[in-house]
Amino acid sequence: MDVTVKGWVRTFRNNQFIALNDGSTNNNLQIVVDFENTDPALLKRITTGAALSVSGRLVASLGKGQSVDVKATHIEILGDSDPEKYPLQPKKHSLEFLREIAHLRFRTNTFGAIFRVRNTLSFAIHTFFQERGFVYLHTPIITASDAEGAGETFHVTNFDLANPPKTETGEIDFKQDFFGRATNLTVSGQLEGELGAMALSDIYTFGPTFRAENSNTTRHLAEFWMIEPEMAFYDLKDNADLAEELLKYVIRYALDKNKDDIEFLSQRLLDEEKQKPQQDRSELNLLEKLQFCLENDFERLTYTEAIEILKESTPNKKKKFQYLIEGWGTDLQSEHERYLVEKHFKKPVILTDYPKEIKSFYMRQNDDGKTVAAMDILFPGIGEIVGGSQREERLDKLEQRMDEIGIPKDELWWYLDTRRYGGCPHAGFGLGFERLVLFVTGMGNIRDVIPFPRFPKNAEF
Ligand code: ATP
Ligand code: MN
Repeated sequence: MDVTVKGWVRTFRNNQFIALNDGSTNNNLQIVVDFENTDPALLKRITTGAALSVSGRLVASLGKGQSVDVKATHIEILGDSDPEKYPLQPKKHSLEFLREIAHLRFRTNTFGAIFRVRNTLSFAIHTFFQERGFVYLHTPIITASDAEGAGETFHVTNFDLANPPKTETGEIDFKQDFFGRATNLTVSGQLEGELGAMALSDIYTFGPTFRAENSNTTRHLAEFWMIEPEMAFYDLKDNADLAEELLKYVIRYALDKNKDDIEFLSQRLLDEEKQKPQQDRSELNLLEKLQFCLENDFERLTYTEAIEILKESTPNKKKKFQYLIEGWGTDLQSEHERYLVEKHFKKPVILTDYPKEIKSFYMRQNDDGKTVAAMDILFPGIGEIVGGSQREERLDKLEQRMDEIGIPKDELWWYLDTRRYGGCPHAGFGLGFERLVLFVTGMGNIRDVIPFPRFPKNAEF
């Protein structure tokens, strides 16, 4: 069969064998060049990184490692790549270095695999919800509300920053700004999502989210993608069931669709872990870990039960935690979440019913007067991957809580209206997409699972 193939040169050996890759898989196509009958000037231009179009005959391969070769009859250089200057040499580069050349890192096996898996996961998410009749709702990216009242937002303004208009009292006069008020990039689409759910029943959002949190961690980005389903007539248990089903569905989907890539990433992780001392290595390889996650029920327990476990845990007693668990009421740090998941239960955990003081105003108050119907899902190696709750549908309770913590009710009049007109029990959650991709690819840093990461002091590309 005669074929024409196009791609980029990964390597060129002995003036004879081109490993060509077009990004559809990590398996390169081997091109066999009849070098004796090829112009030496052309051979010289077949360099790592160059883009080629090759015509030739598809034949059974004589070599090991591939089933077919293309015996080239015509080679056209579509784009040269200077081998002296090309930053991606055919050798092992560190992930840190590749982050600096993120415009080229797609061309490595590792990042090819990551971004194919990322693509599959995002498609799987839509498929999951669409199969269940959820409506994909586009919530605004520019908003005037800071859903949690947490701060951490990026301002959106049209002002000349050197000279913004001022009020008589000397404050910046946002009334004169583009939207006639102070606005910011969204930190969550939930509040608007709830409005949709109060008519469409089941909705989900899947869009970019922005948080100006100055946390230089391996799990936080300033721009990340979040999936936020919101369901009318769901309680906390329904919510947890849906989240567990979703996570299992998309992991299975990726395992089916991207087996080769996940196997590649699993091997990558094994190689990386060889550098670590034995006790820091994972007990399961990536494939086993994903399989394990599919085959086991997530452990469900309350915050109160978790605190008891943590209080009695060895690292707490031996003062190994950076933040010691003193008693009920403190927020859990990532080290505690990971202890529960990785050491104690050794599987994903769904923690529910947190103290109301450490959770958002919209979470439904439990009868004990102390806790709210919150739900976090904790994953090995990640910590929190999902944060959600049953929402407070009772207007009086909601208003009382907003007053207690000083959230202006007049600004959220539209949110409160849904409690005035046909409000009903409902629930939802937020799944951080990059944390999911981290888990499925076995990567260690969230900056490596989004094409162009945004984090403090970095917005290159
Ligand atoms: P964390 O405590 O880990 O900072 P959070 O409590 O602020 O998370 P939520 O506000 O509940 O998180 O957001 C829902 C989900 O969004 C989280 O469970 C997580 O998966 C993801 N997420 C939150 N902040 C970030 C971030 N800065 N970068 C990437 N993903 C994030
Ligand atoms: Mn956070």
